[in-house]
Parts: sequence; C-alpha cells; structure tokens
Amino acid sequence: MSTGLLTIDLAAIVANWQALAKIASVETAAVVKANAYGLDAGRVAQHLANAGARQFFVAATEEGVALRQALGDGPVISVFSGHMEGDTQSIADASLTPMLNSAQQMQRHFAALPNHSFGIQLDTGMNRLGMEPAEWAGLRSEIIEKGPTLLMSHLACADDPDHPMNAQQNAAFEDMTQGVSLPRSLAATGGTLLGAAYHYDMVRPGIGLYGGEPFGAAHPVVTLDIPVIQIRDVAVGETVGYGNVWTATRPSKIATIAAGYADGLIRAMGPNAKLHSDGMEVPVVGRVSMDLITVDVTALPDAPQSLQLLGAQQSVDEVASFAGTIGYEILTSLGTRYQKHWTE
Ligand SMILES: *Cc1c(COP(=O)(O)O)cnc(C)c1O
Repeated sequence: MSTGLLTIDLAAIVANWQALAKIASVETAAVVKANAYGLDAGRVAQHLANAGARQFFVAATEEGVALRQALGDGPVISVFSGHMEGDTQSIADASLTPMLNSAQQMQRHFAALPNHSFGIQLDTGMNRLGMEPAEWAGLRSEIIEKGPTLLMSHLACADDPDHPMNAQQNAAFEDMTQGVSLPRSLAATGGTLLGAAYHYDMVRPGIGLYGGEPFGAAHPVVTLDIPVIQIRDVAVGETVGYGNVWTATRPSKIATIAAGYADGLIRAMGPNAKLHSDGMEVPVVGRVSMDLITVDVTALPDAPQSLQLLGAQQSVDEVASFAGTIGYEILTSLGTRYQKHWTE
C-alpha cells in the first residue's frame, strides 16, 4: 500500500439516516450532493434506498443524471439549483425534480416541460437561493395550480440552536406557506435537531448521514489510514520539511507518511494536526507538503506501518478544527489518490 486507505462505513451511514429519521418522524430524504460529500453518491444512495429512503437531493442536474443511473427508476431525485439553462433534456430524461428558485426558472420550466414535476425553493432570509417573499406572493397562485411536489427553504444558522435566525426563518416559512396544502421542508441536519417545529413534512439531512457535526450522536463513517514510507532519527538542532519551520529539541524519530495537501489534507492544519497509532496520539511536525506529511513518532514503542488521521479516535470535525474549517470541507476535499474501501 503506497497511498492512504479511506474506509467508508455504509452501514454507519444507513444507521445515521435511520437515527435522524427517528428523531424527525417525518419523511427523511438524503442529501447526496458533491458525490455524497465525497463518499460516492451512487453507493451511498443505493444503500439508503435499500434501507427505505425514497427522496434524494443533489446540487446540480449533472449529479442528478449520474444518480438516476445508479438508482434506477423510483426514488425522487430533486435538484437544489433548479432548472438551469441547457438542462431541460437531462431533467426530462433522468426524471429529475428541479427546485425552482426564481420567476425566470419557473417560466423556463413551464415553457419547456409543462407537465414535468418541480418543487419551489423559497428564500426565508439566507439570501442564497429561492424566491423572495414579494416574488412568491405574486406567483403563488399560478404556481400552486401547477402542483409543485414540495415547498422548501433552508436555514442559515441551524448549527447554532440558540441563534434567533432559526425562529425568524421558521416564522417567515410559515408565513409564506400558510394555507397551502403541499408538502413542506425546512430542515437539513441542524434543523432536524432543532425539534418538531422545524420538521414539517420532510427533513433533508446531509452531513449528519456522514458522521459530522452538528449531529453529535452520529456513528463515525470514515477511517483514513496513511502508510509510513520511512522513519528517520533526527538529532537536536536538525530541522524537518519545507521552510525549516520545525527544529528538534530532543533526539526524535520522524515518520514520513504518504499523503499531503493534494489529498485534501489542508496545508493550514500543519502546526496543529495529530494522528493516531494504536490509540496513541502523534503530532505533525513541519509543513504539510503536497504528497507527504512528517510526524513525530518518538513516543511510540514500535515503528508504525501506518498512522490514522480519521477514525474512531479523531472525527472529521476534529481534523477540521486543526485547519480552522468545518467537517464538510474536510470530507469533500478528500482526494482521489486514496484507495477506497466501502464496508457494509
Ligand atoms: C446541503 C444542503 C442540505 C444538507 O445540509 P446538511 O447541513 O449537510 O445537513 C439541505 N438542504 C439544502 C438546501 C442544502 O444546500
């Protein structure tokens, strides 16, 4: 093995989906955009479909087309970016359900595919996607007549349960959808954990399925073991890696491992990052380089064959904190050079 081994526990993803479905006790979709946060949308969605998931969300039509191939007919595949110019044929052929975000998308959709399913995304304050309250008020009756599958919106601050924006957006969503007897959805992972007032008819978790915060009770999903290429003795006063940023202050054993920032191990995490070997923590020393990272393994009793960055001892969120980012970014940055292994 000369590259890292990334193990993805599909059973844990299914268990996380089931746990979130139990919390919500309404229809629980699965968000599998960005190739299921880097973990393989086809495999992930097939397992979730076997476990009973009927609704999937992707960001882009192209992702929806690939997902339809993996899933076959049956499950609903909805597209957050809506009906974009040039996507009509794909939306029709792959039976995708665009979440229309604007009057322009609405006109495009009704003109090109008048009898094809669609949903509506409403902006309740995030100002990213969706129809604004005034726009929606003007189009509402025309749209409702055409029978959208879903009215949805998205929370900006749901990872912080105490944030006043949550209640504010919930009230705006209530207001915009009052008196409409169509399925509604407001919550992603964070919103699912905010309680029943946020669940409506469907929740749409993503990160929680993949073991990330804010779903603290999630089963860990990914393990990343990185092989050691060589171990050297470094004397007091010697430096390690680019820029000489680390100098040995005691005789040290330094392991060079086979992954770097080209594999998604963000360079910025260098000075803070730790790995594990049989339960023992070992610090990264020196700069993270493109293909290699140097680790101080002086404390280990035996020379390790590999070191673990992600796993039961260290979550994607802990690794994210080393680099000042979030678990989402760590997952979706995981590189293409790893050997990937999916366990059931
Ligand atoms: C990404 C996304 C989700 C899933 O969010 P998580 O925080 O990963 O659960 C749900 N809805 C929309 C609109 C999204 O963009």
